[in-house]
Amino acid sequence: MTDCLFCGIVEGSVPSQTVASDERTVAFMDINPATPGHALVVPRAHSADLLDIDAGDLAATSVASQRLARRMKEELGADGVNLINACGEVAFQTVFHFHIHVVPRYRGDPLKLPWVPTEGDPDEIAATAAKLRDAGGGDDG
Ligand code: 5GP
Ligand code: ZN
Repeated sequence: MTDCLFCGIVEGSVPSQTVASDERTVAFMDINPATPGHALVVPRAHSADLLDIDAGDLAATSVASQRLARRMKEELGADGVNLINACGEVAFQTVFHFHIHVVPRYRGDPLKLPWVPTEGDPDEIAATAAKLRDAGGGDDG
């Protein structure tokens, strides 16, 4: 048991649309997507933020974000991608388990950064996750 939401997702005690994973990282869909396909990449090992994370986990989450960005271009037709990390409350961090936002961008999309989180449609998120999912990702929610 843990009080950290993203540790719960990593362990599987909190449901998520997981799309990829490896020994050090898990990637899953954001429930308030800034654009269709918005996902989060987290280290399996808990660390609060950018200042706290182990260098090896930081490298692994960066490489996993690059892999996912490539899938977004291939599977979702994204024209570009924003990688975003919020470190600290003042920088709008709300979940204190390090994560990289991988936000696919589509030519002409209306996203202005920083976005105002708005709850997404779960069926739409699940359908997009199915397109992104690789062998390391499982549908557990
Ligand atoms: P932060 O504001 O810390 O940079 O980002 C936290 C992100 O976690 C937000 O974009 C928010 O939508 C997402 N989030 C919050 N609760 C949940 C949840 O229960 N499941 C998933 N998949 N994402 C969540
Ligand atoms: Zn955690």
